[in-house]
Amino acid sequence: MRRRALPVAAVGVGLSALLVRRAAGGAASALVERRFNVTTGPRPFAVSAAARDLHSRLAVVDLHADSLLWGRDLLRRGDRGHVDVPRLVEGGVALQVLAASTKISRRHKLEGNDDRYDDVRWLALAQGWPPATWRRLLPRALHLARRARSLETRSSGRFAVITTHEQLHRHMSGAPARRATAGLLAIEGAHALDGELANLEILFDAGYRMLGLAHFFDNEFAGSAHGFGRGLTPSGRILLERAEAWGMVIDVAHSSPATIDDVLAIATRPVVASHTGMRGVADNIRNLSDEQARGIARTGGVIGIGFWAHAMGGEGLPWIVRSIRHAVNVAGIEHVALGSDWDGTVAVPFDASGIVQLTDALLTDGFDEPAIASIMGLNARRVLLAVLPSLPEAETQAASSKGGYSSGGGSVWSAAADGSGREVLVDRAGAERADWRWGDESNQ
Ligand SMILES: [Zn+2]
Repeated sequence: MRRRALPVAAVGVGLSALLVRRAAGGAASALVERRFNVTTGPRPFAVSAAARDLHSRLAVVDLHADSLLWGRDLLRRGDRGHVDVPRLVEGGVALQVLAASTKISRRHKLEGNDDRYDDVRWLALAQGWPPATWRRLLPRALHLARRARSLETRSSGRFAVITTHEQLHRHMSGAPARRATAGLLAIEGAHALDGELANLEILFDAGYRMLGLAHFFDNEFAGSAHGFGRGLTPSGRILLERAEAWGMVIDVAHSSPATIDDVLAIATRPVVASHTGMRGVADNIRNLSDEQARGIARTGGVIGIGFWAHAMGGEGLPWIVRSIRHAVNVAGIEHVALGSDWDGTVAVPFDASGIVQLTDALLTDGFDEPAIASIMGLNARRVLLAVLPSLPEAETQAASSKGGYSSGGGSVWSAAADGSGREVLVDRAGAERADWRWGDESNQ
């Protein structure tokens, strides 16, 4: 009897250890998020009736948020952080670009970083991500894409992951109805490819449609604004060509000035700076010069103006409006958009539910309605529609039912049944990757 009881007890102890670790890990993520994803503006807030009326007719697009990282269930309205589905819907945000930051550190400086720190690993361990994510970066991006897919599946139509031109067109046409919202998946830093150009296809198959070339350090493909000043590498050039050909938007936020110059010299599709400020307002290495802003405009692209103090030069709405005004003066009204950096360990004046305050502030600053509509969403929508791939409807549905797209090379993002009804990831030969096996859905 004892011999039988022991393993049962051991399983019990193991299970409670797992639950304790999950709970502790969740609490740790929550603690970090409460401390760093802060909202500074008044709550409740007051805006004019004219602003409310105009805002109710807008389909807002925001080009950058890190909300997938924090382990919150984004279907529920959170009491921390900036973004979840209820708050996006309440704020009239029709499309939120959701970024995968696969390697970051609180210790990063503004310049001269190498890639030695890896705090995403601690998030992965704390939140119980699959073992493959503990050391490698590509599985982290796949895990975050799967979080977004799970959100879509569980949302009863309130949230969709947009991957094609047709899907975006359909979604944005009905957007001001205010019942649903959508996300578009973005890579923040090409280090997510784990150094392999071929991995771009895996990210594309997983639904990623925006590619930020660098984040806080230089990688195999591109130099970072916070690194050592280098530009696009030869493989970075191939990466850009491929991403453009497949319908992924190139994002130069966090790129070094040399990388931005290289990209603008060879880009054939509209380029974005998804979340940034302007050097003409806040002069730091992370922000765009007037010349770079004009270069992005020449590609037909947009500059996503951020909401956080460091990029804006000061804290609060007047600084955001000042940066938007400067970007409009330099690049033109067709080339300015929003790049909040919500949930990116930043303090911002309002979360997604309060973005009507920006519409109000732009009205007060003298922008007319067409200009506000352009900035708040139409410009970003134009760029995404121009770049996103066009896939036949039948293929779109088949692809979303299996959880991803095949770009022709054989998808690795297959929801193969493993007997337990759970999804597993299979490699190109169809063999199951045990260390890529996903856990349960409770940890979203
Ligand atoms: Zn960023």
